[in-house]
Amino acid sequence: MQQLKPLPRDLTQGARSFPGGVHPSEHKEITEALAIERLALPSQIILPLAMHAGAPARPTVGKKDEVARAQRVGEASGFVSAPVHSPVFGTVSDVTAVPHQSGRMVRAILIRTDIERTQEAIEAEAEQRVDADLDLSPYEPRKITEAAKEGGLVGLGGAAFPTYIKLTRIEKKPTDIALLNGSECEPYLTADHRMMLEQPGAILAGLRLAMKATGASRGAIGIEDNKPDALRTMRQALSAAGVPEPIDIVALKTKYPQGGERSLIPAITGRAVPVGGFPPDAGVAILNVGTAAALAYAVAHGRPLIERVLTLTGPGIAQPGNLLVPIGTPIRHLVEQRGGPTEDAARVILGGPMMGPAAAQLDLPVMKGMSGITILTEAQTRPRKEVACIRCGRCVDVCPSGLMPATLARLVIKRRIAEARDQHLLACVECGSCAYICPSHIPLVQYLRSGKALVRALPKES
Ligand code: SF4
Ligand code: SF4
Repeated sequence: MQQLKPLPRDLTQGARSFPGGVHPSEHKEITEALAIERLALPSQIILPLAMHAGAPARPTVGKKDEVARAQRVGEASGFVSAPVHSPVFGTVSDVTAVPHQSGRMVRAILIRTDIERTQEAIEAEAEQRVDADLDLSPYEPRKITEAAKEGGLVGLGGAAFPTYIKLTRIEKKPTDIALLNGSECEPYLTADHRMMLEQPGAILAGLRLAMKATGASRGAIGIEDNKPDALRTMRQALSAAGVPEPIDIVALKTKYPQGGERSLIPAITGRAVPVGGFPPDAGVAILNVGTAAALAYAVAHGRPLIERVLTLTGPGIAQPGNLLVPIGTPIRHLVEQRGGPTEDAARVILGGPMMGPAAAQLDLPVMKGMSGITILTEAQTRPRKEVACIRCGRCVDVCPSGLMPATLARLVIKRRIAEARDQHLLACVECGSCAYICPSHIPLVQYLRSGKALVRALPKES
């Protein structure tokens, strides 16, 4: 059994931050005051079978099949995998290869939407609620984990790791605290912020369910202190619910990447996740606030993960907003519904600008882990001339993983991959802080990302 450092008695008085990090301009004022909206349904849904960490799902429907909203259309194909469900009533028009955000082609189920029937179902579901004081007595830990597994829940913060695995108890690594990540430290994005303002009850119910599933005796929600209204709303909801579980709402310093697991866990618990380890090695189960709300709906109403809230933002979109959208909605549909791109729009980022990949085209679908779409202008994306490293050490100062990014990048460039591995390259979380701060404009993350792939390809004995 692992030995864990005791948790602080009062989690709100902990470090509230982590070593390193940067303060990029936030740009959250564009959408933080805009309530979550639904848009008109798209005429076609594109459901990739690989939109989670692990093995792609296997299709269980074929061309011309009629499907219902919330029907399973792809089944999990391994331990680390997740099923896929249709967010609409409609007809399968094809099961074929489509472009993926990675640039590869992946298999997907294409569904022609029956807009009228789907709209009726959505209106009926609007009656469903989950409150913070949800009666947990009917839900045994296994039932909660099964609901997450059957509902195809994955982390909505970006990593898209199957939630049921995070909720499953590990005998040798007991969890004593469940954490929710409400930091949303990426510039521009405000989807989690709005979820905390508009659905605090479902988030708290999800946290209590996660505590029960994992056996955690304590719970906490970490929120950056640039969202005082979210801190206030969550605290009021917790106090009004009067739930028996000990839960803390913790104000964290506003600093990027506060929302990374390896930043959030030490900031709240005082424990570090070891290099090469995972949150259970620190006795922690950690979910995003949106994932917690999805867990509450999956358990209380049997609702699979068929839609999500994302932020469509940036100076390159005519009408930014926080949008509740069916998974599989083509990004082009969202952009058109919101007035189209501005004349000077130049780059579409899937997520926020620090970690999100650029989209090569607008016909990609919304995936389960996609928390935002940021459209930047030509002026923002003009390439900066890369010059030689001046050995200023700033990249070292800001690295939240305690790495030496300049040294690692040099090793990768010279193909000294085993040495890079020995200097813990795999501990890089690809947060982009080093590249952001570098005065020589060296694209450090690109080198480190490709170096990580080369480390993983090394023969074991090298
Ligand atoms: S921040 Fe850039 S210039 Fe400074 S040491 Fe790191 S790589 Fe070199
Ligand atoms: S080396 Fe990796 S973890 Fe460290 S700052 Fe750069 S991208 Fe982030």
